[in-house]
Amino acid sequence: MSSERALPAGLLPALKAALHPGAVIDDPERLIAYEADALTTSRGLPGAAVFPASREELISVIRLLQEAAVPFVPRGAGTGLAGGAVADGQVLVCTTRMRRILELDPEGRSALVEPGVLTDSINEAAERHGLRYLPDPASAAACTIGGNVAVNSGGPHCLKYGVTSDHVLSLEMILPDGTPLVLGRGDDGGLDLGGAFIGSEGTLGVVSRVRVGLAPVAEEVRTFLALFDSLADAGRAVAGIFESGVVPVALEIVDQETIAVVEASVFAAGLPLDTEAALVVECEGDPEEVAEDIEEAERSTRAAGARDVRHAHDAGERLAIWQARKKAYGALGRLAPDVFVQDAAVPRSSLPDLLPRFQEIAHRYELRLANFFHAGDGNVHPNLLFDRSDAEQVSRVHEAGREIMALCVEAGGTITGEHGVGLDKVRHMELVFGPEELAVMQEMRRSIDPAGLANPGKMLPAESGSVEA
Ligand SMILES: Cc1cc2nc3c(=O)[nH]c(=O)nc-3n(C[C@H](O)[C@H](O)[C@H](O)COP(=O)(O)OP(=O)(O)OC[C@H]3O[C@@H](n4cnc5c(N)ncnc54)[C@H](O)[C@@H]3O)c2cc1C
Repeated sequence: MSSERALPAGLLPALKAALHPGAVIDDPERLIAYEADALTTSRGLPGAAVFPASREELISVIRLLQEAAVPFVPRGAGTGLAGGAVADGQVLVCTTRMRRILELDPEGRSALVEPGVLTDSINEAAERHGLRYLPDPASAAACTIGGNVAVNSGGPHCLKYGVTSDHVLSLEMILPDGTPLVLGRGDDGGLDLGGAFIGSEGTLGVVSRVRVGLAPVAEEVRTFLALFDSLADAGRAVAGIFESGVVPVALEIVDQETIAVVEASVFAAGLPLDTEAALVVECEGDPEEVAEDIEEAERSTRAAGARDVRHAHDAGERLAIWQARKKAYGALGRLAPDVFVQDAAVPRSSLPDLLPRFQEIAHRYELRLANFFHAGDGNVHPNLLFDRSDAEQVSRVHEAGREIMALCVEAGGTITGEHGVGLDKVRHMELVFGPEELAVMQEMRRSIDPAGLANPGKMLPAESGSVEA
């Protein structure tokens, strides 16, 4: 995808005048770096990319774009996996220079941060006070809190503690006409307007500030890895753990294809290559309760057929297990130039049935599939490996992806667990939502952005309304 659209005369000089030197990129060669997020199948060259360094500069930018009637796309770190930050001919509004932690209140257990702050940076600041920010996307070292809020990110430890939305106390949005608006969470007697904006993927404006809740660092953490000869058995172990009454903080499955590629990388954790699935189980909290929970969880995994259980004996061993899981996506680059990342949420009970069926679909389309995912949440990532320079492969990938999504919806699930809809999954929205639901979403969007300037073409199908610019 590429655009020939030119920006109106006068806009670029006005943006340059409103921002500090070097904060506007309009050279097409430099803009290539911004033509996609981490999903390489959706691309488009922005008309320009701007980098406001403060809330005031951000407001000026949005007002100028509104006056010029030019659509814009908010962007954090561009680690999104749904094509949400693609700006085809539009102006990319990047928040990476808005990266100050404005306030950290240890007594009140909260932090007020700018949208470009890295998720891990919040944790680093909080740890000095024995606190932490609980949602932990595997990309936390690179992604921004603004991006997390925009797509309502999850992560391995969201199983017990909830996703981003559960940890945002309030936020400020710059609406598409440049109006700043502070949104609470309904605990002040008003509507939970914050809740309506969290997960809106840049289609209702730009997140300019976020107040997040912090929690104490866990007293005790115990982690083990269970190895299985069958992916379906690993799925059964997940169900067994919950049936036993244990609620781990994290329950992650890594499949054989992924184990092979991680073991060939610098993140190797010594897993046998004939293992069909590895399950990471982590419990934390009061030391006595954790010891009981870990014992019970181990019993459940063995009852489901685990052939081996390996405990992390110290922080270094725990880190090795988590590196193998969290760096798996990057390691896939060893297998193919491109990865079509799938993200769907399904009922946990359907995992043993669905996991082998994802493999069947991939085999039928002659594609390699690697699956590593948040099993406890039923949030699957059956990733298809391919080469995007081969158009025929790309079309097979899209077909297989559609079948996988349809299968997940049929099983009672939905088309995204944490990555958002973006550009990639607009085509699947009608699998989940009826015309009435889509019309209400579109109506809400139109009431906030009548000119359709904020991230047009993302999230909601164009036919269900007319925000397409
Ligand atoms: C290796 C890897 C692992 C990952 N693991 C996880 C995981 O475990 N859990 C998870 O949920 N995701 C994961 N992701 C996906 C991604 O990191 C998250 O979606 C993250 O929240 C995106 O943040 P970002 O700053 O990169 O946003 P971007 O990619 O820049 O943008 C994402 C979306 O948010 C919008 N947006 C960005 N900033 C703002 C803002 N300030 N205001 C309004 N809208 C905005 C954009 O328009 C776009 O629609 C992973 C990605 C990678 C590459």
